[in-house]
Amino acid sequence: MLFIELANFFEKIERITARSTIIDSLVNLLRKTPKDLIDKVIYLIQGEIFPSFYGIELGLGEKLTLKAVSLAYGIESYELEKMLKRFGDIGKVAEIAASKKKQVTLFKQPLTVKRVYETLEKIAKTTGEKSQDLKVRLLSGLFVDASPKEAKYLTRIILGELRLGVADMTILDALTIAYAKSIGFRDEIERAYNLCSDLGEIAKILVNEGLEGIRKYKIKPGRPIRMMLAQRVENVKEVAFKIGGKMAAEWKYDGERIQAHKIGSKVILFSRRLENITNQYPDAVEMLRKGLKSNETIVEGEIVAINPDTGEFLPFQELMHRRRKHDIEIAVKRYPINIFLFDILYKDGESLIDKPYIDRRKILEEIVEQKNGLMLSKQIITDNLEEIEKFFLEAIENGCEGLIIKDLKGTYRAGAREWLWIKLKKSYHSKMIEPVDLVVVGAFYGKGRRAKSYGALLVASYNKEKDIFETVCKVGSGFTDTDIERLPEILNKYRINKCHPRVFSKMEADVWFEPNVVIEVIGDELTLSPVHTCCYGKIQAGSGIAIRFPRFLRYRFDKDAKDATTSDEILEMYKRQLKKVE
Ligand code: AMP
Repeated sequence: MLFIELANFFEKIERITARSTIIDSLVNLLRKTPKDLIDKVIYLIQGEIFPSFYGIELGLGEKLTLKAVSLAYGIESYELEKMLKRFGDIGKVAEIAASKKKQVTLFKQPLTVKRVYETLEKIAKTTGEKSQDLKVRLLSGLFVDASPKEAKYLTRIILGELRLGVADMTILDALTIAYAKSIGFRDEIERAYNLCSDLGEIAKILVNEGLEGIRKYKIKPGRPIRMMLAQRVENVKEVAFKIGGKMAAEWKYDGERIQAHKIGSKVILFSRRLENITNQYPDAVEMLRKGLKSNETIVEGEIVAINPDTGEFLPFQELMHRRRKHDIEIAVKRYPINIFLFDILYKDGESLIDKPYIDRRKILEEIVEQKNGLMLSKQIITDNLEEIEKFFLEAIENGCEGLIIKDLKGTYRAGAREWLWIKLKKSYHSKMIEPVDLVVVGAFYGKGRRAKSYGALLVASYNKEKDIFETVCKVGSGFTDTDIERLPEILNKYRINKCHPRVFSKMEADVWFEPNVVIEVIGDELTLSPVHTCCYGKIQAGSGIAIRFPRFLRYRFDKDAKDATTSDEILEMYKRQLKKVE
């Protein structure tokens, strides 16, 4: 099969928008494709060389690609860069460069799909010293034999810029028509796709084994399963309409979802987009290797960033520090994590996805040793909506986004967003844009580096009307090492042996202080919380207003306790900044 046939197909698809026409063209192309190339052609249509879960990269950026173009067509790199600035499309640059090519190679070999694919595979596998030169030479060899149109699409594939916009589901439709003859078999093909997340693999099975192969398809550890997603409701009452009777309510952790495949002592982690993210979390790999008591298993959970000194959850943005290629060990130390497992899909040769959730959870509980930061999602099983409401506020108070409510009878529906999982997030949040000045009324002992000092402070706003102090949050972040060292020296002179009579607290601090020291604090948002007492009951019965993800900014020695931000001011801030969450 010639590469030009693919290039012509890409060109055609770029011009059409009607889904049915795209499917017709796809079916034609697939029918023309030799059996041994079917998976490769599918990957190329998706603008990839391998499925993203392989975690293999070509290692060729814009610069090296231009170098290969320059080498193939004898045009200086700086001229190509100038062209790139003008057109902003590297595919076009390669196309123009190919059409300008002066010397005509005598024995020009037409490019075949096989040669293009094998060369790209070789480029991906070339590593080590001098690999860049070799990659460039291999690629330029392809450009030498490419027509302008081929050069354009080749470049786009290499840089991940093909973007034909052909959805996976469209490819599945085309595969069904081309190889299963009747669209009636579409669901069975999709089922297999949901279990392997690899359209190339599905196409290969279809051409080699037909529908029988598809029907027999089973989960294979090492290949990600398309993840089950949650529907959303606005309040707890709606949940009861969707799931009757007893249900499981779980904290909705605000982190990164993982699907972990343990194969013997090897652990592979896939992200929600099914990318291989194993290298970002060597600590998670270790926790799972040690904490999962089964030989082969697939589990799901959420990785959450935590404050190493207080153990409190941090916003999921903190996990961005793990998205780096180098010095991952430093990031592991500086930005530690916990894992909360919430599902199990496979265990020692047996698929568990068709079992009800309550049974899967039991199996999960049996194989997980909860230690060293590996835990199970916090869960209650109940049909009492008030209890769920309380659990919801508790989840938010602890830095979670809300709850996921699960149907106890629900199977694991790979790739589906249905009512078996329902998310209940805060329907309102109030973005916090200005810092507030709060009074330190209590403290909690530190751990690790903070063992000699306090790990977090309990702080309060001033209720002018009642002349009391009402707690707003526990601050454990934002302190420098010096700030921490100074805490006992600054605070201990105000230490008292029980909660001060003018402090209204529902939390039990390790140490109490006379309200005196004022600190400036900023947070992500203001939320409702059952454990804080600021404006207690004013917005909702049984809750006060709290600061989510608070951070210490500085001491305000210039202020005394009565100069602190008042509870009324916080109420105003809450109302002013109240926004509906989309
Ligand atoms: P959303 O991303 O808003 O659609 O919410 C669904 C996401 O919540 C899942 O993809 C998980 O990443 C996350 N999540 C956090 N805790 C849980 C839990 N206990 N059960 C299921 N999903 C959870």
